[in-house]
Amino acid sequence: MNFVRRDIILIVGLFLFMIGLLPFMAPIYAVLIVLGMYFGIKVYVGKRRQLIENDVGEGICMECGSKILNKKCPKCDYIQE
Ligand SMILES: [Zn+2]
Repeated sequence: MNFVRRDIILIVGLFLFMIGLLPFMAPIYAVLIVLGMYFGIKVYVGKRRQLIENDVGEGICMECGSKILNKKCPKCDYIQE
């Protein structure tokens, strides 16, 4: 199982989100919503990773997976400027 730092950040983020939900609903529903989001994100990331691997020939950004254009990421480098 690939358990990387990004997963820890995701879990911490979802845990905080769950705590934020607790005042508004029963804890069991908050847990179910957060679990659903977690697996949804895992599936999404897995599919996106497959698309990225099919696209590696062009060069891709390690942060967001966008194609590199002129040695810059159109998303990340644009935001940083
Ligand atoms: Zn990027």
